[in-house]
Amino acid sequence: QAVAENPSVLASLPPGNLNEAESKALFARFGMPVTREHVAADARAATAAAHELAGEVVLKVLSRAIAHKSDIGGVRVGLAAGEVPDACATMLHRLQQAGAPTPEGFLVQERVRGGVEMILGFHRDPQLGPVILLGSGGVAAELFQDTALRLLPIARGDAEAMVEELKAARLLRGYRGAPAADVPALVDAVMAFATMAGTAGERLLEAEINPLFVLPEGQGVRAVDGLVVLR
Ligand code: ADP
Ligand code: MG
Repeated sequence: QAVAENPSVLASLPPGNLNEAESKALFARFGMPVTREHVAADARAATAAAHELAGEVVLKVLSRAIAHKSDIGGVRVGLAAGEVPDACATMLHRLQQAGAPTPEGFLVQERVRGGVEMILGFHRDPQLGPVILLGSGGVAAELFQDTALRLLPIARGDAEAMVEELKAARLLRGYRGAPAADVPALVDAVMAFATMAGTAGERLLEAEINPLFVLPEGQGVRAVDGLVVLR
């Protein structure tokens, strides 16, 4: 893989949190499917981006300083392009009121529909070493503890076993008439994330995709959010 031959993948990036676009760009280099999206410097550019994406979009604040965007009104799901200018203005106003630093801009992305929301995480445990986590995302994550952990490196069989040990495995297989989710694509995503964590180098402290949408069979997965912490 080209990326494995390029250990400087993090070299040009600053320490601390990366913003969502930077984080997902890193994930995408390792084969992770991410939302189609555009970084926009201002409301006008965000509106143009929404027109270009076509259909309903998601508007987000783009800021290294804001790890939890929806906590401060920084995520709007399901906007038409014509609604974007007002939404940008409202978002900036709320950020100012919350005392947040000036953001890098906006992120405009396709709205993903359907599927099962999962979490993929990576951190360095002081005792154990590099750990990868797969768990239920969204509402399910809040209702019950549902996570699978492994020390890196992992093989594909380990990734498959992680999926199987989750309570969400039943949901992914199609529960009560809901369509089965694309489990092979989820396993691919776990492997891509593990490869990234194993290849990116020691500067990678933490990484998270929350949520990762696992779409119905044959439709793959989509990383909808991303957060990387560098040292
Ligand atoms: P936060 O920084 O608050 O975690 P997210 O980017 O995860 O922000 O967005 C919050 C929630 O909005 C997500 O958990 C997901 O349910 C929904 N969401 C975000 N982006 C999209 C998208 N592109 N398509 C559909 N839903 C989305
Ligand atoms: Mg999130």
